Amino acid sequence: MTRQVMKSQTSVIQGVGESLSEELHQMKLDTVEDVLNYFPYRYNHYEIKDLSEAVHDEMITIEGKVQSEPLIRFFSRKKSRLTAKLLVGRYLVTIVAFNRPFLKNQLKLGEQVTVTGKWDQHRGTLTIGELHKGSIPDSSRIEPVYAVKGRVTVKKMRRILQNSLEQFSKDIVDDLPPFFLTRYRLMTRQDAVQEIHFPTSRERLKQARRRLVYDELFLFQLKLQAYKMSKRVATNGGQASISIDQVKDFINTLPFELTEAQKKVTKEILDDLHRPYHMNRLLQGDVGSGKTVVAAIALFAVASSGYQGALMVPTEILAEQHTESLKAMFKPFSIEIDLLTSSVKGKRRQDILEKIKMGQTGIVIGTHALIQEKVEFNHLRLVVTDEQHRFGVEQRRLLKEKGKEADVLFMTATPIPRTLAISAFGDMDVSTIDQLPSGRKKIKTYWVKTDMLPRILAFIQKELSTGRQAYIITPLIEESEQLDVQNAIDVHAQLQQYFKSYTVGLMHGKLTAQEKEDVMTAFKENQSQILVSTTVVEVGVNVPNASLMVIYDAERFGLSQLHQLRGRVGRGEYQSYCILISEAKSQESQERMRMMCETTDGFELAEFDLKLRGPGDFFGKKQSGLPEFRLADLTHDYRTLAVARQDAADLLTKKEFWKEDVFSNLRVYLKDSGVLEGERLD
Ligand code: ADP
Ligand code: MG
Repeated sequence: MTRQVMKSQTSVIQGVGESLSEELHQMKLDTVEDVLNYFPYRYNHYEIKDLSEAVHDEMITIEGKVQSEPLIRFFSRKKSRLTAKLLVGRYLVTIVAFNRPFLKNQLKLGEQVTVTGKWDQHRGTLTIGELHKGSIPDSSRIEPVYAVKGRVTVKKMRRILQNSLEQFSKDIVDDLPPFFLTRYRLMTRQDAVQEIHFPTSRERLKQARRRLVYDELFLFQLKLQAYKMSKRVATNGGQASISIDQVKDFINTLPFELTEAQKKVTKEILDDLHRPYHMNRLLQGDVGSGKTVVAAIALFAVASSGYQGALMVPTEILAEQHTESLKAMFKPFSIEIDLLTSSVKGKRRQDILEKIKMGQTGIVIGTHALIQEKVEFNHLRLVVTDEQHRFGVEQRRLLKEKGKEADVLFMTATPIPRTLAISAFGDMDVSTIDQLPSGRKKIKTYWVKTDMLPRILAFIQKELSTGRQAYIITPLIEESEQLDVQNAIDVHAQLQQYFKSYTVGLMHGKLTAQEKEDVMTAFKENQSQILVSTTVVEVGVNVPNASLMVIYDAERFGLSQLHQLRGRVGRGEYQSYCILISEAKSQESQERMRMMCETTDGFELAEFDLKLRGPGDFFGKKQSGLPEFRLADLTHDYRTLAVARQDAADLLTKKEFWKEDVFSNLRVYLKDSGVLEGERLD
């Protein structure tokens, strides 16, 4: 019953007629529920301040006695200025109002008034915003401010909410079972909604927000987890066995011992491969943490048991690099690896496609274009994608489609703060490599201005003379790829001129795949000692002998991108350096530079980045597919998110949840969200 009331048209609200209802519709407020859930975006706090504490240009509220008859001067028919004197404590204050001569009626000599307005410290005047007769009963009144549109004013909105609450507050449905309220000492939803609109105190407002944030995050998690469960049930099917002995043999052939973190995530992944439902896992680990070998183990497990695996990466360079290193790793074993990129053409391509179809190819490596093509597999069991954060929503959807037939492992080096990982990828399991292979030295990072260029050149010289190699990332002009390329060409020419006894390579997006490969190979084999490049070199490239990274215009890059770039060095045993050249002006970009110099911990940087930019920007644009919350703010509320996630998971595994009455509201919620029927979320 009450649920239906909530879904009533806004016109049932006292004082909302047809035209106002239409205005509300323009604000996407169609039902009583929409209106009640339209929370203020900020509040005016009216706290009577002592004038001696008032700050110039601030909004303040004062209470005083009218000391002089108001004086009105008209400049034209509509323009006027009203002034009056007010005795506030020991001070005589002039209050001013423009074009509101009617306020005169509220300013009777000798009477008490309360005024809120902007304080001019120099003149000792207050420009009236709001004027009340007498003193307001609650001196710490908190007033809601709403985002409004069209003919709906903030005042009107307050009115509408007051009426809605009076009429319908009793109909607000509390979805949470009562024991949750006791457990977390939460107020009821009715109270919370009342308080969030018209707080009776700061403390109550805080509690209201706490309750509503919990609701929001809990319901979100419940939906995600239920979805995850329903999918597991749906994909339930016998998974054929993976030979663990062979996998162990393979691990023993590796030239190094796996780190504890690598062992842990490898186990998680292999366990998944055994489970009767499909894997949907995110593997995150900082640059250089050794994700490739983990992917190799998973792919090996699948291929050595007679199935097929696919590895997808963002660039052809990376595809080639991975093919090479996997071929080397799998040499002692008879596993067919094929590279399928857009530069593999004609007869060769036909042959490879045929081999894949027949099941001769154990592992296919390619760019992300692979998923868009209709490559036919014989028995695809595992799809691994590298640098998953670069994917758009569409690619992710396609991958999920693929996931219906195979296990899916996403890998990313953009450390996603735990908080975001569990919201954006809440329907995935997350494995984290939180440790670098031992023996790595911390990359020393410096922020310098352009005028230090001579010293930078001398430093490059010094590194080269000890046998090391250097990357130079060239200036970035966001709007034009052509100009970026030109910049790279210019810097390349200058450096080749300067470092005559060394070879300087040049890499940019306009080179053909073959040219890129040649440039990269030359650098890898130390035929060139300096590599001048646009940001195409960003992800995954592995040249352990390179120990120096110089980045021009560093302020133009986001923190995660800088961190990625820096991750190209420090991959071997040598002390490595990163030099950020930047004239960073804004406070935010200076913060970024400082942060880069301070830490090499990708997770720390990511958390910081999240604070600087907010979650929306974190994944870039609207690509993220991140949910937008009404109240919850993931930078501040992530502890609540973690708690809510656990609560949701616990609840869903309880038998009572599916039967008992206290949970019926939540079950209805899941049904309404389409989750229980196993439909997609996104
Ligand atoms: P990323 O996680 O950035 O993809 P890579 O997989 O490219 O990192 O690994 C970076 C380097 O570390 C590679 O040269 C790799 O061979 C090496 N490596 C990986 N795991 C270990 C380990 N356990 N011990 C030593 N070196 C390792
Ligand atoms: Mg990698």
